[in-house]
Amino acid sequence: MHRTLLLFGATGDLAQRYLFPSLANLLRDRLLPPDFRVVAVARQNHSAETFRTALATAMAAKGGADPAAAEVRELLARVEYVAADLADPANVAAQLASYAGKPCVSFLSTPPNLFVPISEGLKAAGLLDAPSRLVLEKPIGRDLASARETMLAIGACVSEDRVFRIDHYLGKAPVQNLLALRFGNTLLEAVWNRQWIQSVDIIVAETAGVDGREGYYANYGALRDMVQNHILQLLCLIAMEPPGSLDADAVRNEKVKVLQALRPLSAATAHADSVRGRYEAGVVDGKAAAGFLQPPGQTPTDTFVGLRAHIDNWRWEGVPFRLCTGKRLAERVTEIVITFRHVSHWLFEKPRKERATPNRMVFRLQPEENIQLDLMSSLAAPEWGALELRPLPLDLSMPLSPRRRIAYERLLLDALNGNPALFVRNDEVEAAWKWIDSVAEAWREANTPILPYLAGSWGPAEASAYVQPAARKSS
Ligand code: NAP
Repeated sequence: MHRTLLLFGATGDLAQRYLFPSLANLLRDRLLPPDFRVVAVARQNHSAETFRTALATAMAAKGGADPAAAEVRELLARVEYVAADLADPANVAAQLASYAGKPCVSFLSTPPNLFVPISEGLKAAGLLDAPSRLVLEKPIGRDLASARETMLAIGACVSEDRVFRIDHYLGKAPVQNLLALRFGNTLLEAVWNRQWIQSVDIIVAETAGVDGREGYYANYGALRDMVQNHILQLLCLIAMEPPGSLDADAVRNEKVKVLQALRPLSAATAHADSVRGRYEAGVVDGKAAAGFLQPPGQTPTDTFVGLRAHIDNWRWEGVPFRLCTGKRLAERVTEIVITFRHVSHWLFEKPRKERATPNRMVFRLQPEENIQLDLMSSLAAPEWGALELRPLPLDLSMPLSPRRRIAYERLLLDALNGNPALFVRNDEVEAAWKWIDSVAEAWREANTPILPYLAGSWGPAEASAYVQPAARKSS
């Protein structure tokens, strides 16, 4: 395990909200080496002391970490601070040269336009020499061409096997359990195909808006900000063929095949298979919420996307994968819903076949983490005249560990240990962008409108087919 973490963007939101709290949790659980240390890097001027004080305050405000907790104090004692202009490779190299000579992990939690200059500076300082590693946050590029350009420049600084691209959804417990359930159980793998599965829904609904990030967001929109990475990664894990082993490349080889089998959206199918929206002023969680403010001069941005994806292969022919994400929606919920077909011959009077709830498997990632299997059963009691089917929801979650872990805990540990299984390979990034580019191009050619929706609603009325969180379906 590498013992030094260079954390770039250490004064930023992600670092304070998730990365430092994850490290504190790992220290508390004694999962980091005794001589582990963090070199925090950002632009602001700080001494180690003023940075530690500011960090303790920010961790308490954003994540509720108690500054007096033993693990927070232990973490702060291991943090050093370096100020650098990360847009300037020479400055990066000069400020960090003293850390060369020992293997380290550099975690870039910075705006993505800094990924290349930081990598160049690290390379110049010898901080990317093997076996040191580089961890990159999202997004990598905003289309296939820019992603390739970024990855090529980074590839000139560090070899691919030491680049760890984060998709923090892959660190979430239900996502790990999806693989365990799918590939560890004859019952599930046997029905995991077009013959038994009717549809798959993946929804990432947020109540939060774009507040304060209009500049970044206007350049990306929901399609590039959420679908290209998190949603397509989830789709891959559901749809991939069983890998030969759980070895990182065996799994990633299967994921990339799914991305390559995604049918491109075209102008002819854009209307039937997609919806775009943007929120207007409304009420979210009982509070007034302003509409999305389109920065002047930018191309119009979607804050809501519904897509019907088709995977052109033997396993999934004819099975729609409905992908949906939006900001300022009615509820914060992230879930994958696998809906199975009805049994072939219906024996029951009640309910009638068309009104019966289908079997479903629901992987819920937000707000709580759990897995539910919806079967049908019956109470065989004498007061029942006919055999009547009733939904039987089974909780398949593992018994809860004492606390919910932050997804980044697992990912930080894996990066320090050099285990790339839960990180995204360069060809996956390319294949995902290729499909996203087809969607953007289809919208452009078809002039697909961005439909308004009220903040606090479930998106544009035209999108109802895409918005099917399990909680809503059964209500
Ligand atoms: P942020 O709050 O804007 O923080 C940016 C960080 O980068 C700050 O520490 C800032 O330092 C530093 N920085 C910016 N320009 C710099 C420069 N020229 N020289 C030195 N330091 C510079 O961003 P964030 O929300 O933490 O996001 C970081 C990354 O994580 C982004 O790639 C984002 O897409 C990704 N991400 C974030 C979240 C999240 O929840 N926040 C979720 C998923 C992914 P100063 O404060 O010193 O200026």
